[in-house]
Amino acid sequence: MIILLKENSSKSQMNYLMKWLAQKGVDVHVSEGVNRKLLTLTGNTSEIDTDLLKSIEIVDDVKRITEPYKSSNRACHPRDTVVRVGNAAFGGGNFSVIAGPCSVESKEQVLKIAQDIKKSGAGLLRGGAFKPRTSPYSFQGLRENGLKILAEVSKETGMPVVSEIMEQSQLPLFEDIDVIQVGARNMQNYELLKELGRTKKPILLKRGLSCTLQELLMSAEYLMMGGNENIILCERGIRTFETTTRNTLDLSAVPMLKEMTHLPVIVDPSHGTGLAKIVPPMALAAVAAGADGVMIEVHNDPANALCDGAQSITPSQFDTLIKQISKMRECCYKYDSQKEE
Ligand code: PEP
Ligand code: MN
Repeated sequence: MIILLKENSSKSQMNYLMKWLAQKGVDVHVSEGVNRKLLTLTGNTSEIDTDLLKSIEIVDDVKRITEPYKSSNRACHPRDTVVRVGNAAFGGGNFSVIAGPCSVESKEQVLKIAQDIKKSGAGLLRGGAFKPRTSPYSFQGLRENGLKILAEVSKETGMPVVSEIMEQSQLPLFEDIDVIQVGARNMQNYELLKELGRTKKPILLKRGLSCTLQELLMSAEYLMMGGNENIILCERGIRTFETTTRNTLDLSAVPMLKEMTHLPVIVDPSHGTGLAKIVPPMALAAVAAGADGVMIEVHNDPANALCDGAQSITPSQFDTLIKQISKMRECCYKYDSQKEE
């Protein structure tokens, strides 16, 4: 349920309303709209008499939200949420690029890639330390050591870092990691989400292989329920009958999600396609679809990568792509401002 307050409501009127709502046992989240406040109620709102609520002086309007996702719902928070990490920002017109190897292989490898992608204009460095591999016989990641390498490279280059967590017990190891990634396979690991919801760290929440957009937003609700609103959603391809690409990159998810939620949405065309040669066009298509950022796997020697070499582009291909992205953003900006005229 959302409550739209009248403009210029006084403190004592507000206190009265908050007390009234507290008696109903619901949780209230206050957001500042352009001119007035908006309250989002979660919990059991079925007992609340909307006519009675409307009769309270400062209440302008009351709407029941029929969608099961409440806190992430655009209706509860019309303005875009902006997630800031170091100098990078996602949402509200801000666009950032996350790049780096699929997995951390060595300090030299990560440092070299980080220096190259930073020069090209990437805002954040990615690298997996705990790898969710389909086969238990594949490289599983450098684990704790991988996180240490990322933290060192972050210090040396000044780039914030993103890495994937696989279970709650690993959380203390992520202290020096700026953004915690919840991978596709863990999108519905609700205990992990609850734990991460209690942290203040930005979370990169990737869409599950066969999850709907509504299910993705319900997972975001688990994080938000704990008070963490620093969430970046990521479309990374879904499982379909198509086999020529690793996954089917669902770019329609971007404009749909932007309508459904205020949270920033980015796209990972590397896992979305599995093929390095179509990563650049799909990254550009993501920009055109309105994404707030992209995440690209970059490797200095893709043929010898320990993980996902086939979908990794080289630093020089990345440099070209980032220039094209910025041209595409300019075109989209011009197109959008023409639409508004
Ligand atoms: C990754 O980003 O390294 C990864 C494993 O992605 P996903 O969870 O989307 O498969
Ligand atoms: Mn990968």
